[in-house]
Amino acid sequence: MTATPPIDYDFDKQHIWHPYTSMTHAQPTFGVVSADGCELTLDNGQQLIDGTSSWWACVHGYSHPYILEAMQAQLHTLSHVMFGGITHHSAIDVCKKLLNLTSDNLTKVFLADSGSIAVEVAMKMALQYWQGQQLPNKQRILTVKNGYHGDTFAAMSVCDPEGGMHTMFGNAVTQQLFVNAPQTPFGEPLQHDDLSSMRDALDEHHQSIAAVIIEPIMQGAGGMRFYSSDYLKGLRALCDEYQVLLILDEIATGFGRTGKLFAYEHAAIEADILCVGKALTGGYISLAATLCSDDVAQGISDSPSGVFMHGPTFMGNPLACAAASASLDLIARNEWIEQVAQIEAQMQTELAPASTLPGVAAVRVLGAVGVIEMQQPLNTAQLQQAFVDLGVWIRPFGRLIYIMPPYCIDQQQLTQLTNAMTSVAKMVGEQSANGQVQPQFISHG
Ligand SMILES: *Cc1c(COP(=O)(O)O)cnc(C)c1O
Repeated sequence: MTATPPIDYDFDKQHIWHPYTSMTHAQPTFGVVSADGCELTLDNGQQLIDGTSSWWACVHGYSHPYILEAMQAQLHTLSHVMFGGITHHSAIDVCKKLLNLTSDNLTKVFLADSGSIAVEVAMKMALQYWQGQQLPNKQRILTVKNGYHGDTFAAMSVCDPEGGMHTMFGNAVTQQLFVNAPQTPFGEPLQHDDLSSMRDALDEHHQSIAAVIIEPIMQGAGGMRFYSSDYLKGLRALCDEYQVLLILDEIATGFGRTGKLFAYEHAAIEADILCVGKALTGGYISLAATLCSDDVAQGISDSPSGVFMHGPTFMGNPLACAAASASLDLIARNEWIEQVAQIEAQMQTELAPASTLPGVAAVRVLGAVGVIEMQQPLNTAQLQQAFVDLGVWIRPFGRLIYIMPPYCIDQQQLTQLTNAMTSVAKMVGEQSANGQVQPQFISHG
């Protein structure tokens, strides 16, 4: 092995933005020099067990030989070519596989460069669809509070109006319609009035609403909340009743994370427009996709422009498509089904005791997602160091200590993650009991 050069932390601190950070009050960063399986290796040689799948994406673990080989082969034949007027095997393969895995009504795929762009594309599709239906006044998007759909402007406009970035950007963010977040917990029958604010909003505004957008079953970055599949079923029926499209954002939930291949399967519904991203490439490179039905595609074609108005420079990037294609092959082996079920069962057992700790508001587990929700906001930077000291990579935000490990994590590694979560929750609870207030630090990441 050749020695890796030291990480230039000083340059990083002075010149490079990290997600949701200040350039004048830099948060500490950890230099990662390599990653393999479920472990990250730091520049000091320390190995950390990964509890994040690099933000939901790296579901098969790092350096997976099958994905690496597919990417390497692709690099040597066609690394990139424009998608305007050109097509290639890599894009066709991944789109075929995506259509096979998703619900039968979805027949068209738009390849986007990131999750946020997939959401922008979905919203544009909905607006153009209604233009084609001679209902051009249907332009607003209805959604629930506590949602998260990305950081670009249209995506921001449907993020939680308080926890999101609306206040920071004021009128530059389109005013959308918000109703109460689903309250009925996952696995429970719908509380009778849970859909009422959604129904009221649709009843009052349906003539100006193009679509409802929602994260099915799990609201991710907006609070890691798991809600009843009955809510989704009811929402699908309401959208049909009021002639509004349903956009499902499966960017975090897709590809097995909640125990089903897609979270909408818990409710046995179909989306009119579906966004996927994050784990699409197994976490190796950025790629997302927006899928839609024949009906939606027809509406767009009937709109005044006659075409769908979006086309990024790196659309259908062959290298990204090759990674996604390989990752979808691994998904199709269905090993994730048992892996996710085992992760879920183990987390339920190992995290349950944390619910009685002082300062803990709730513990919840769904699929390969485990959450300890604290009563007080957490200091991400301080706790990040505490987790590294415990040999794990877990990044809390808001009031949440949570993990979504790669599916290939073994039992011992997972125990190390849940132990670390519990001991950090305990430490935080004791600190606040002693009056040591956690300095507040607002972060999405
Ligand atoms: C992460 C995420 C996005 C945004 O994806 P990016 O690739 O970060 O732009 C959108 N929706 C959901 C539900 C997400 O979790």
